[in-house]
Amino acid sequence: MTKFSDLKLGPKVQKAIEEAGYETPTPIQAQAIPAALEGRDVLGIAQTGTGKTASFTLPMITHLARGRAKARMPRSLVLAPTRELAAQVAENFDTYAKHVKLTKALLIGGVSFKEQDQLIDKGVDVLIATPGRLLDHFERGKLLLTDVKIMVVDEADRMLDMGFIPDIERIFSLVPFTRQTLFFSATMAPEIERITNTFLSSPHRVEVARQATASETIAQAVLEFKPSRRDRAASEKRRALRELIDREGDKLTNAIVFCNRKTDVDTVSKSLKKYGYDAAPIHGDLDQSQRTRTLDGFRGGELRILVASDVAARGLDVPSVSHVFNFDVPGHAEDYVHRIGRTGRAGREGKAITICQPSDEKNLEDVERLLGKPIPRVELEAHAEAPAKNEEEAGTPKPERRSSRRRSKEVEPANVAEPAQDVEPVKQADAEPAANAPAKDEKPKPQRGRGSRQGGRDNNRDRDVIGMGDHLPSFIEKSFEERLAS
Ligand code: AMP
Repeated sequence: MTKFSDLKLGPKVQKAIEEAGYETPTPIQAQAIPAALEGRDVLGIAQTGTGKTASFTLPMITHLARGRAKARMPRSLVLAPTRELAAQVAENFDTYAKHVKLTKALLIGGVSFKEQDQLIDKGVDVLIATPGRLLDHFERGKLLLTDVKIMVVDEADRMLDMGFIPDIERIFSLVPFTRQTLFFSATMAPEIERITNTFLSSPHRVEVARQATASETIAQAVLEFKPSRRDRAASEKRRALRELIDREGDKLTNAIVFCNRKTDVDTVSKSLKKYGYDAAPIHGDLDQSQRTRTLDGFRGGELRILVASDVAARGLDVPSVSHVFNFDVPGHAEDYVHRIGRTGRAGREGKAITICQPSDEKNLEDVERLLGKPIPRVELEAHAEAPAKNEEEAGTPKPERRSSRRRSKEVEPANVAEPAQDVEPVKQADAEPAANAPAKDEKPKPQRGRGSRQGGRDNNRDRDVIGMGDHLPSFIEKSFEERLAS
C-alpha cells in the first residue's frame, strides 16, 4: 500500500497532512499525485468523497512552494462550478498549505469586486474561482492569466450541467499553452471527453469507484407517494416528509433534504420550520453570507436539517450525515448516487429515503437501473389516522371551505408557499398521467386504504380492508424497520 511518504510531496506539505490526521493516501491520491508532481496533465474520473481535492491541492502546493507571484498574474488557477465548492477548495489550501507561505484569492459571486481586486493586485499564487466571476474580472482588465502554470478544472460534469463549458473553453484559451492541466469529473459525458481531448496533453488517466456505486452502508428506501387529491399534492407531500423524519426518531442526528426545484427548497424549508423542525435552505439564489452561515451551522451541528438543491449541495463535505431525504427523485440517476453519498460516509451507517410521486416513476426506474437493483419500498401510516392537530391536512377530503382555509393556513404563518407553487405537482400529474391518476373528469375520491391502488412488489398493498372502511390500523402493517430489512 502506498504511504504519503512515498509520494515525494514537500516536507511542509507532509507535515500538514500528518496534522490533518490522514494515514494513507486514498486511491485517487496515490495515482494522481505522482503524475501531477512529474508535471503531467491528469484526468481524474472521481466523485466527491474520494479525496480528489487533496489529489490536486497537495502537488500544487509542493510546486508553488518555489517561486513568487507577480502582481495581477496568478500562478495557478482552480475552477469550480459553485461558490461552495470553490470555498471548500480554498479551505483545503488553508489546511494543507499552513506551513508554506502561499497567497490565494477566492473569486466567487456575492463577494465585492473591490476586495478581490486588492488581493489580485498584490499577486496571488492560487486563484480559486467560479468561471463566470473569473471572466468578469478578466474583462474588467484586472487580471492577467499569462503566468498560470497549473490549471485545475474541478467537477467538470457539473460545469457541463450548469452551462459553463463555453466559459471553460474561453478560459483555456486565455492561459498559456505550456501550463499543466489537472482535470476532474465524476462522469465522462461526450462533451467532457471532447474538452479533455482538446485541452489536455497526453493526460495520466485515473479512474476510481464506478459512478453507480452506492455505499453498502446506506440503507435505502422509497415511499411511493400518492396524494389523496391533486390540489393537496404539495402539502400532503410535505406532510409525508415530516412523517418520514419523525419515524426516524433519535437515529436522525442530522439530515439533508434534497429537492429538484429551488422553489421547493424554500417552501419545504419554511414548512419544516413552521412545524417546529430545525431546518434551513441552501440554494444558488441565496446570498453568499447566508449560504456560508447555513453551511457552517450544519457542519457545526447547530442546524439539524439542511434543505438543498443538487447544485448547492454538490461536493459539499459534511462528514457525518445520518439521513438523506429525497423530496423528489432526481432527474439524473447519477444525482441520486451523489445525493445519498452524503450519508454512510467512511463506513458509517446512513439512511436514504426517497419520496416518489407518480410523475417521478420514470426517474425512479432510471435510478434502479443504474443501481442494478430495486430499492425497498416503505409506507406511511394511513392518513385517516393522522393526529387531530394536523386535521386540516389529513387525507380525507373536506368541504371546499375548509380546504381553502387549510391552504391559507399553510401559507400564513411563515409565508410558506405561494399558491402557485402548491399546485405545481398537479400540473405535472396532468402532463404525465400515471396509470392510477384520477381521470380528468373524475371527481377526487377519498384516499383508500394506504397505497391501495399501487402496483409494485408488495402485494399487501392491493388489499381492501373489510369491516374498517378505508382505514387500516397501523399495527396491522409491518414496521418501517421490518420493511427496510425485508
Ligand atoms: P473530497 O473528495 O476531496 O471532497 O474529500 C473528502 C474528504 O476526505 C474530505 O473531508 C477530506 O478531508 C478527506 N480526506 C482527503 N484525503 C484523505 C486521506 N488521505 N485520508 C483521510 N481523509 C482524507
